[in-house]
Amino acid sequence: MTHRLGVLGWPVAHSRSPAIHNAALSALGLTDWHYQRLPVAPGVFAETVRALPAAGFVGANVTIPHKRAALALSTNRSEAAAAIGAANTLTFAPDGAIAAENTDAPGLMLAINALLELPAHPRALVLGAGGSARAAVWALREAGAEVSVWNRTSARARALAEELSVRAVDAPEPADVLVNCTSVGLEDASRIELSASADQALNQLGITFDQVGEYPNVVDLVYRSGSTQLLAAARAHGSRTVDGLEVLVAQGALSLEIWTGRRAPIEHMRRAVQQQDREASVTKEGRAAG
Ligand code: NAP
Repeated sequence: MTHRLGVLGWPVAHSRSPAIHNAALSALGLTDWHYQRLPVAPGVFAETVRALPAAGFVGANVTIPHKRAALALSTNRSEAAAAIGAANTLTFAPDGAIAAENTDAPGLMLAINALLELPAHPRALVLGAGGSARAAVWALREAGAEVSVWNRTSARARALAEELSVRAVDAPEPADVLVNCTSVGLEDASRIELSASADQALNQLGITFDQVGEYPNVVDLVYRSGSTQLLAAARAHGSRTVDGLEVLVAQGALSLEIWTGRRAPIEHMRRAVQQQDREASVTKEGRAAG
C-alpha cells in the first residue's frame, strides 16, 4: 500500500516541498511513499484533512493560510505548536488521531546553528508579525535570544510581542541577527545594482542598504530563485546569511523524520531544491529572452 504525504495550502502550486520530500523518500529507498501538492480552499479544510487517512495519507505539511486551522483540528499537539499557535506538520494515526507539530521553529534554529556564528545570548530582530514570525520569535526566545519584533503594522507587532513575552520596536534596531519573516517579495537582486536603488525595496522592511551592515548575521525566510535584495545587501556588507530554501529544507527534514522514523537525507533534499531553483532561473531567463 502506498504511504501518501502532501502539502496542504491555498494556493500551493509554488511549493518546493514535493521536490524536496520525493527526493528524500527516493534516497531512503521508500519506494512505496509519495508526496504531493494538496490545494485545499479554506472553507473545506477541516473536512478534507479528516478524509485524508482513508485515502492512504499518513501525514501532511501545512502552509499558508491553514497553519492555525491545522492546529485547531488536531486531537493532540506538541508544546511548541500550542505555544506558537500554528502547526505545519500533521500526522495521522490509524485510530483517527491527528497529531500537530511545528517544525518551522526548530527548522529555523537548525539552519541558524549550522550556518551562523551567534553569541550565547544574541540580540535578535524579527521583521514581521505573521505566522512565520510567531514561530521565529518563539524559537529564538527558547534558544536564549533577546528578541525584538518590528512590523509594518505596529499593532500586530505589539500584540505578538505581548503574547510571546518579547519586545516590540517602532523602528528596526541593530542586533546580532536579523530574521526577515515578512512576505516582502524583494526584486531579483541580480537585476539591480546594489546601491541607493536597493533602498527602495529594503525600505519596505524599515531599513536602508547601509543599515543592513548593522547585522552581522541575516536570515531571509522568503524563498525564491535568485537572491533576495536583503540577502544580496547583507553579503555585500560581509554579513553571514541563511536563505529561505535552507530553512525550508531544515523544517522539511524534521517533518520527514516524524513521519518515517528515519534520519532525513538532508544533502539529497538540498540538492533537489537547488536543482529546482536552477530550473526556475533558466525558465525565467528563457521567458525574458523570448
Ligand atoms: P503572513 O502570516 O501572511 O505574514 C506576512 C507578514 O509580511 C506580515 O507581517 C505583513 O505585515 C508583512 N508584509 C506583507 N507585505 C508587506 C509589505 N509590502 N511591506 C512590509 N511588510 C509586509 O505570512 P507568513 O506565513 O509569516 O510568511 C511570510 C514569508 O515567509 C512568506 O514569504 C513565506 O513564503 C515565507 N516562509 C518561508 C518558510 C521557509 O521555510 N523558508 C516558512 C514559512 C514562511 P502586516 O502585518 O503589516 O500586513
